Amino acid sequence: MSDTISCSCLCGTVTFTVTWPDHVTSCNCSACRRYMALWAYDPPGTLTFTKGEGETVAFTRGDHELAFHHCQTCGAVTHWQGIVNDRRAGNVRLADDPDVLDRLRVHYFDGADSWTTIRIEG
Ligand SMILES: [Zn+2]
Repeated sequence: MSDTISCSCLCGTVTFTVTWPDHVTSCNCSACRRYMALWAYDPPGTLTFTKGEGETVAFTRGDHELAFHHCQTCGAVTHWQGIVNDRRAGNVRLADDPDVLDRLRVHYFDGADSWTTIRIEG
């Protein structure tokens, strides 16, 4: 099994890898539930852009704590980036091998309300 997950946006402009994560997070906050993202959080160095890092567009909500980035060509949500710190997370829904998603442990995070993990699967 590879120790990284290769990801790319729909049109291939943006590609990145993430180190195989302990788990990924599915969050139900107003942004994440709309984006349908599965986030692999990034201790420094685990999210590596291989192409197109400067080709994304950032969207920032009112709290200005983080920016959601998407490919400016195809619209796929690639990652979020902290504004007040260097935290970020890659969206592994963009995995080149969709079977990867079945092998990931998923933490379901209640970002809409309690800010706690409400269940773990996988
Ligand atoms: Zn694209």
